[in-house]
Amino acid sequence: MKDVILSAVKTHTLKKDEIVSLLSDDTINEALFKTADKVRKEFVGDEIHLRGLIEFSNICKRTCKYCGLRCENKEIERYRIKPEKIVKYAKNAVNMGYKTIVLQSGEDDYFSSDKMCEVISKIKDLGLALTLSIGEKTREEYEAYKKAGADRFLLRIETTDKTLYTKMHPNMNFENRKKCLHDLKELGFETGTGILVGLPEQSIESLAEDILFFKELDADMIGIGPFIPHPNTPLKNASQGNFTLSLKVMAITRLLLPDINIPATTAMETINQNGRTIALQAGANVVMPNVTVSEYRKKYEIYPNKICINEDGAKCRGCIEEKIISIGRRVSDSFGFRKRG
Ligand code: SAH
Repeated sequence: MKDVILSAVKTHTLKKDEIVSLLSDDTINEALFKTADKVRKEFVGDEIHLRGLIEFSNICKRTCKYCGLRCENKEIERYRIKPEKIVKYAKNAVNMGYKTIVLQSGEDDYFSSDKMCEVISKIKDLGLALTLSIGEKTREEYEAYKKAGADRFLLRIETTDKTLYTKMHPNMNFENRKKCLHDLKELGFETGTGILVGLPEQSIESLAEDILFFKELDADMIGIGPFIPHPNTPLKNASQGNFTLSLKVMAITRLLLPDINIPATTAMETINQNGRTIALQAGANVVMPNVTVSEYRKKYEIYPNKICINEDGAKCRGCIEEKIISIGRRVSDSFGFRKRG
């Protein structure tokens, strides 16, 4: 099995059955994590890119079965941060030293293309790299965001198992989600995608297909997080995703796409106290601290027990910097675009 890992390091390719055997064999975990850490160091170095996350609206028209923001959840208090305020929060993030802002929300139609573009161009005037994570839009809308200055877009495929995708996303279309990702790539966005690990009925084989999909798309960023059941969703009684398995999917992704950006996700830290630090030592090179003011943080409950919901932006930054330094790494002061290696 160690030979499979070594060959992946040399060729950055693996066959589906090789990925399945790596995911199924827990005796190789330490070797896998160490190797992913070495590949990370060789291709993207010791710098960690911090992306300041602003969760600007929890209003969503979708009904994704796992997500607390789904419109059928009547228990959460909805909010929407107005455009001027979003720009103000982005300014605060610049003052804290962030070089990238990520604007994330539910699929909230209040933010028309024009409104979004206005926010984008004002934030770009601050001299930041800008990432959007606002769901499925038309190609024309994506094009307008690009013209307004947006640099990157995150849209997780969530799972590449079409049957499972269809079960998890009522009234959504798997082919359209893939089309969105291809549109984003063609329009010149740095394109991020990713999956949830541990969805009900998700197989190891489908996780292997997910990893091969990342490679085929040549994604610039991959976010992997365990599924965490939310009490106000149809999946409230489902079991939580496994931390180690999520970490393994992430580490194998680093072997196949050595020069991309891979975040140590908040969901990993939610189910494991040192989740992000562990991930940063198993292939990850990005962290996305929350810069949303605490009044809204509590309400952006995609899953329960999200970390740091009572903290403010400055505290989150300080806390993560300490962790980064404690593992011998440093915070980057560049924009952190993908450099092809
Ligand atoms: N509306 C945007 C942003 C969604 S929230 C979009 O469609 O891209 C960002 C990510 O949170 C989702 O892509 C999903 O992978 C993750 N997420 C949602 N619910 C979750 C849960 N219960 N457990 C873990 N991650 C979850």
